[in-house]
Amino acid sequence: MTSTPDHHQTTLPSSDVEWIREQAALLGFADCRIARPDTRDQLPHLQAYLAKGHHGDMQFLTENHDKRADPSLLVPGTRSVISVRMNYLTTPAPHRHIPDEPEFGVVARYARGRDYHKTVRQRLKQLGQRISQRYGDVMTRPFADSAPIFEKALAENSGLGWTGKHTLLIHREAGSFFVLGELFTSLQLPFDPPATAHCGSCDACLRICPTQAIVAPYQLDARRCIAYLTIEFKGSIPLELRQGIGNRVFGCDDCQLICPWNRFAQLATVPDFLPRHGLDHTRLLEFWLWPEAEFLEKTEGSPLRRTGYEAFLRNIAIGLGNAPFSDTLLTALNQRLPDLSPLVAEHAHWAIGQQKTKQQKAKQQEAKQNEITQHRIFPD
Ligand code: SF4
Ligand code: SF4
Repeated sequence: MTSTPDHHQTTLPSSDVEWIREQAALLGFADCRIARPDTRDQLPHLQAYLAKGHHGDMQFLTENHDKRADPSLLVPGTRSVISVRMNYLTTPAPHRHIPDEPEFGVVARYARGRDYHKTVRQRLKQLGQRISQRYGDVMTRPFADSAPIFEKALAENSGLGWTGKHTLLIHREAGSFFVLGELFTSLQLPFDPPATAHCGSCDACLRICPTQAIVAPYQLDARRCIAYLTIEFKGSIPLELRQGIGNRVFGCDDCQLICPWNRFAQLATVPDFLPRHGLDHTRLLEFWLWPEAEFLEKTEGSPLRRTGYEAFLRNIAIGLGNAPFSDTLLTALNQRLPDLSPLVAEHAHWAIGQQKTKQQKAKQQEAKQNEITQHRIFPD
């Protein structure tokens, strides 16, 4: 088809948006809306967040503020943003984190299958190709958490959901277990109305967070958040946060699990999110014994690659320290010590200390129990 300047200068009718939504649905997106490409109102919030140091080591958040605020500076010619969501739950999620299997390592649900960034970007690319086939010379650029973009703000502007007190996007009919993507385009499309907020007086996510990372409604201190600590952060995890991390070895779903709106969470419709290599149910001990080659093989195309082998082992060491006492775990921790990097060794020593403390407590309790039993059998 040939280029028609009308597509760029005149707002297309809503029937064209309906056609785009149909194509997005065919490509596996659960929702698709049109956002105004203007997120300048987010800059003061970002600046306040940075001033408090809540971004931790995420230096990229300190750069490219002009492009973040104005998508047409990031991609010249952008007139509209097609904002999409893709659901990722492969089984219904429980209402809260179930800590009754502390010997297993918990991987956040979005990360148990294929890396969603590729899935979303590839499908958005196909959506762009279909748009170009229909409208001719049209610019489209796909993104999935891959550029300086206020992704959540665009999604909120488009009506895909509101930002909850845990700072994630929620939809009344879909909860929050979904990932986002954007297709920037030169098409002039009619914008959808922004979403309204529905957290009300609820504060369940603030109360449930194991490391008190949601320091106030809508304020997340990444430096305390398990998702940041186990994925983005590469250093030594602060001692005071290690017990709160429990057996979460990559990311954390707790604030989403407790959110009442996730009673309406929807299941994934694309197979990419199906767990690979048993990442939804693997013992900490098994993870701990993975040599690097096995880690690389089993995390090929998975979000876990992002953390790298060393930080992954560091996370597993914390999980082992938090697991109930077991001779097998204590032996495995000690046996790997000679091969570990200084960072992982430091966490392994911490875990050994935790295991020994639990061992001692168990012995003391056993001795006390024996004493009580003896007194009952042979009362004075
Ligand atoms: S992801 Fe986990 S640690 Fe981070 S805010 Fe939510 S509950 Fe807290
Ligand atoms: S748990 Fe409650 S406060 Fe937190 S995001 Fe959900 S509705 Fe909002």
